[in-house]
Amino acid sequence: MVTTDICAFYFNFWLDRLLEKYMKKSFFNWLAACLLAFSFLPVSAFASGYTQTRYPIVLVHGLLGFDNIGPVDYFYGVTSALRRDGAKVYVVQVSAANSTEVRGEQLVNQIKQILAVSGAAKVNLIGHSHGSPTSRYAASIRPDLVASVTSVGGVNKGSAVADLILGVAPAGSVTRSALETAVNGLAKVISFLTGGSSLQQASIEAAKSLSTAGTLKFNATHPQGVPTTACGEGAYSVTKGAHKVNYYSWSGAKTMTNLLDISDPALALTSLAFGGAKNDGLVSSCSSRLGRVIRDDYAMNHLDEVNQAIGLVNIFETNPVTVFRQQANRLKLAGL
Ligand code: CA
Repeated sequence: MVTTDICAFYFNFWLDRLLEKYMKKSFFNWLAACLLAFSFLPVSAFASGYTQTRYPIVLVHGLLGFDNIGPVDYFYGVTSALRRDGAKVYVVQVSAANSTEVRGEQLVNQIKQILAVSGAAKVNLIGHSHGSPTSRYAASIRPDLVASVTSVGGVNKGSAVADLILGVAPAGSVTRSALETAVNGLAKVISFLTGGSSLQQASIEAAKSLSTAGTLKFNATHPQGVPTTACGEGAYSVTKGAHKVNYYSWSGAKTMTNLLDISDPALALTSLAFGGAKNDGLVSSCSSRLGRVIRDDYAMNHLDEVNQAIGLVNIFETNPVTVFRQQANRLKLAGL
């Protein structure tokens, strides 16, 4: 406000001079200075409506859903950032650890409730980790209710870490000691996410869904947006019946990103399960790919992707919240 007041004052001042046809050159110098001053105003000063999508955004959490802090804080700082510039945002809660189909059915029911409350015709789903196939399931069986699915670090072609839980060695040349180290790392990640509790029985169903074999089976029934090549892009949009659903994805590919985040070393250990393939600690870059790939190699780990833990992310990379905002704007510009 101070900047605009000063500019207004000088505008009147110089306008008088201009009318007198004096100091024309200085006027333009002032104009350039004011434009420069405006360029340093916070982006938010111009951003009203930046995230104002046509359809509400629904955030779908992944495995465990961070039991100890709940699904809202799971997408740390994302919900408020999206709402601030116009988006309607809902955060659903599905089973923390269960099969994709069980979670997907729960999601469909919650989408119906959101549509009833908001009066919207459809929703834009953004799912992290297991939240991606969960969202894909909902879009597959109810494409009339879903405008888009965005996968963030999504387990779309399985996770070598899930294979480890089931005792199935992942493909590739992973040594036995690396496997054991990765399993130890996984125990630490789970302990971190659950505040100390161990895997529950339903987690086995989740692991089956997230394993390479489990996702292959799931993709056979729900192939929309999944790349048909090993590591390419999928269909940008799929029309089923008369209903078109758009598909997008992004992911990280770096485990150690912030010295203060105690989850980083654990993710560095689980990343060994991938035998050198690009990954975010729990999902490989190739597995994360769905529809239009925004990027699969942000310098983020699996938790950074949702701005965890509590905003401890890579300060040398685009902030994860910004990536969510950009996606909301992308959806808006696509009329979704
Ligand atoms: Ca982090």
